[in-house]
Amino acid sequence: MKRALFPGSFDPITNGHIEIIRRGLALFDEIIVGLGLNTTKQPMFSPDQRLRWITEAFREEPRVQVRPYTGLTVQFAREVGAQFILRGLRSAPDYEYERNIDLLNKYLDPGIETFYLFSSPETSFVSSTLVREVIRFHGHLEGLLPPHIIQDIYALYPGGRPVSTAFPPADPGSYGS
Ligand code: ADP
Repeated sequence: MKRALFPGSFDPITNGHIEIIRRGLALFDEIIVGLGLNTTKQPMFSPDQRLRWITEAFREEPRVQVRPYTGLTVQFAREVGAQFILRGLRSAPDYEYERNIDLLNKYLDPGIETFYLFSSPETSFVSSTLVREVIRFHGHLEGLLPPHIIQDIYALYPGGRPVSTAFPPADPGSYGS
């Protein structure tokens, strides 16, 4: 049984994360999505909300489980019996960041191996940070998040919908005019 931990803060989970998890299912028998709660950043969404959204995204996939955790990722991997960690890579800055975490994790626990998947062209520009920026200014979220999350977030927007009606553009040529 190959079990991998996919750790992150998922504030919120995006189509980028979901794509990596789905592709990870071809490599691992089971993926535990670890919702890390010990970040120093103030999250936009509560742990419960983030957990519900992830759970709903994989409601029909019994091989994906969601668990919140605090403490070191390698310790949590051991706790849930995961021999592997799965991470996604979008860009060179991701590589630099992940490389250091990889070295640290190997130093802490050489028995846990991390696997990296490159993001697809469709989602490589998507990050939770940028999505939060779109949410802050009540923009369109189609293509960035799964529909059930978009629906919940739009319900929080003033008037229940995004500010601009320009999505999808009636005439793609009209951008910027
Ligand atoms: P962290 O809080 O550790 O930065 P995130 O929740 O932002 O975690 O992301 C968790 C994992 O998902 C990381 O490996 C990150 O690189 C990866 N990831 C985030 N967005 C994407 C994306 N659009 N495509 C592929 N991987 C992604």
